[in-house]
Amino acid sequence: MDYSKFFSAALNRLHDERRYRVFADLERIAGRFPHAVWHSPKGPRNVVIWCSNDYLGMGQHPKVVGAMVETATRVGTGAGGTRNIAGTHHPLVQLEQELADLHGKQASLLFTSGYVSNQTGISTIAKLIPNCLILSDALNHNSMIEGVRQAGCERQIFRHNDMAHLEELLIAAGPDRPKLIACESLYSMDGDIAPLSKICDLAEKYGAMTYVDEVHAVGMYGPRGGGIAERDGVMHRIDVLEGTLAKAFGCLGGYIAGKAEIIDAVRSYAPGFIFTTALPPAICSAATAAIRHLKTSNWERERHQDRAARVKAILNAAGLPVMSNDTHIVPLFVGDPEKCKQASDMLLEEHGIYIQPINYPTVAKGTERLRITPSPYHDDGLIDRLAEALLQVWGRLGLPLKQQSLAAE
Ligand SMILES: *Cc1c(COP(=O)(O)O)cnc(C)c1O
Repeated sequence: MDYSKFFSAALNRLHDERRYRVFADLERIAGRFPHAVWHSPKGPRNVVIWCSNDYLGMGQHPKVVGAMVETATRVGTGAGGTRNIAGTHHPLVQLEQELADLHGKQASLLFTSGYVSNQTGISTIAKLIPNCLILSDALNHNSMIEGVRQAGCERQIFRHNDMAHLEELLIAAGPDRPKLIACESLYSMDGDIAPLSKICDLAEKYGAMTYVDEVHAVGMYGPRGGGIAERDGVMHRIDVLEGTLAKAFGCLGGYIAGKAEIIDAVRSYAPGFIFTTALPPAICSAATAAIRHLKTSNWERERHQDRAARVKAILNAAGLPVMSNDTHIVPLFVGDPEKCKQASDMLLEEHGIYIQPINYPTVAKGTERLRITPSPYHDDGLIDRLAEALLQVWGRLGLPLKQQSLAAE
């Protein structure tokens, strides 16, 4: 049998739907972020990255790089096994203490990625609650959806950030049914924020447990980088906070933080924790250095917000269709998968600007966009060049500017 034809057919379906993905071969330059080298088909070229989730540039911070190199030199590279076997090492234990402290919780537990922490964290927590009903936000990340699916219990989806709908579902479930509300704090494609205080009110009123993914907020919001829950003063009201070390903290890994018995139960029951090798010590030390730095330094957070505001203001003034929000994410509406891909290709090839197209299934069809993530290191000159390049691309592709689309209505 010709098995390869199944795979070519699957790829052809993606090509037909214009959602076959091509990766750019990039090489970052530590100390010069957001500058990078693009290994293009025609050879290496200098480019500027405008879509990194290393939001604060911590992946190149001297303290973070220094901690990684120092630890690898001192204790070697790999962890040497699962946590059960030989993988619990001192830098990892210290990192878990750092994370518990960051979120004001009794304990935290590390996973090899934020994806795994959601998948195995949510499914394990929900499985340990008899007859659990999961109430999940409609725009939750795939890792949460997989966690909910693997939990195997009943689930209901509430309309995105719709508190009236969530309340309806909580009431319908009845007071005696155990309920787990699962949502994100900052949704990274639209850049909108969940009403966490209201969610906590509802959870308390109707006796539900809360699980909040703060992946796009940790390090960046709150006086110590504890996330939106810290900023809004509701961290202590949320049962389980989940985060990543791979975005604002610039490293790799994911975690949950909460009460000691919840964390201990997940540690004891979660297959995605038990049966996989622990994170390497050097990565843990680097993450600890990033978290510690951001607990006391506000410079990155303030400059980050300032840069995002400036990008929005300049693109808006140019008439570019910025999808408005109150966060550091700058989504630029395209609304067509082919043009979104073309815009991204033209920016890279003709302007040395790297912005990955965001197409279905990451966002709904018809809402394709360029997702721009300014960092503290994108200076005024880079922002001006971005606006000029975008205007040229918009013109070439016949994409509407704001004034034009208003006039047409
Ligand atoms: C990126 C992301 C994750 C996964 O985190 P990783 O550490 O990259 O695996 C989880 N949740 C959300 C909302 C994300 O955007």
